[in-house]
Amino acid sequence: MKNLYIHVPYCDGKCLYCAFYSIRGTTAERDAYAELPGQELTRVRAEGVSVTPETVYFGGGTPSLLGPEGLRRLAAGLRRRVSFERVVEWTVEVTPPTASDAVLGALFEMGVTRVSMGVQCLNDRTLRALGRRHGAADAEAAARRIRAAGFANFGIDLIAGLPGLDEPGWAETLARTLALEPAHVSVYGLSVEPGSGLARQVERGLSLPGEEEGLAALQQAEAALTAAGLARYEISNYARPGCACLHNLACWRGEDYLGLGPAAASRIGLMRRTHAADAAAYRAAITSGSNPPSEEVTLSPADDATERFVFSLRLAEGGSPRSHAERWPAAGPNVAAWERRLDGLARNGITEKAGPGRWRLTARGREVADAVGRELL
Ligand code: SF4
Repeated sequence: MKNLYIHVPYCDGKCLYCAFYSIRGTTAERDAYAELPGQELTRVRAEGVSVTPETVYFGGGTPSLLGPEGLRRLAAGLRRRVSFERVVEWTVEVTPPTASDAVLGALFEMGVTRVSMGVQCLNDRTLRALGRRHGAADAEAAARRIRAAGFANFGIDLIAGLPGLDEPGWAETLARTLALEPAHVSVYGLSVEPGSGLARQVERGLSLPGEEEGLAALQQAEAALTAAGLARYEISNYARPGCACLHNLACWRGEDYLGLGPAAASRIGLMRRTHAADAAAYRAAITSGSNPPSEEVTLSPADDATERFVFSLRLAEGGSPRSHAERWPAAGPNVAAWERRLDGLARNGITEKAGPGRWRLTARGREVADAVGRELL
């Protein structure tokens, strides 16, 4: 197992649009949490999963909320159990208020190679409306601290199609983001997730930019970012040469990954496992020496190979049914049918050619990626 993900479920508040598993937790709970993923790793290895990470990703939630000591203990708990000698990329997600000099200094000392910061936009009114706990100037100052701490490879996450952010406002966010010289920018379209604060506000009459405006904002982002030298290597992700996120690339290219922590997901051979989104149940299980509550399914080799192929369609490099079948022989009998279907989907604007014998999803195709997967199945 070469790709290790740790979910840190704590945040200092709840953003309006958020559908991730995140809770505030108490200081004591956050302190105690730092020990748990390492203990889970012991259990996973005892099950026979060999773990030699090459990419490590601390996501959340807000991992930096653990503070310098918590982050050091979390990392030490993992490194006591597995060697980090082969790690080529180690990412930690931060938010502007939690990216303090002390946290960033600790991350650099620990050997973290990449910092990814959720910014969403650089407009104070919209940030307030989204329930973010920072303003635009805080985000810009945090980006400068990240660079000063030694992280040339840092990323910024943005959301396109936000309410209250018209075309000039979005252009300003993109220009100010680029002025910070990030190596990587992710741009997600705003989506209304069931159960989020945003979904409740929409029920109460909040009007959001329409589909066309959302698409225009994504196109505006693509034009600005690619003009500045960041290549769109995945539908939502742009990077300077050599700065694509290797952890996410590995997952999209069909490799296995191990997720530790509540709500974390793993792909281990044919098995897919997602831990319950319940930090208390996770803690209780780990501290009492049992497995965290999870949902687990085992796919057939053919479905496994298909799922891995569908992920590759998200990448600009696309996926080739024939090359995929060389690596995942269970896909072999499907190659001809997939090629026919991918051609058919291309006629409907869902997929497009990424090279001879290769296809990728279009922006429209990404919105129906699950349906494409079912189509290929
Ligand atoms: S910081 Fe991220 S994980 Fe936390 S509430 Fe906001 S969107 Fe959700």
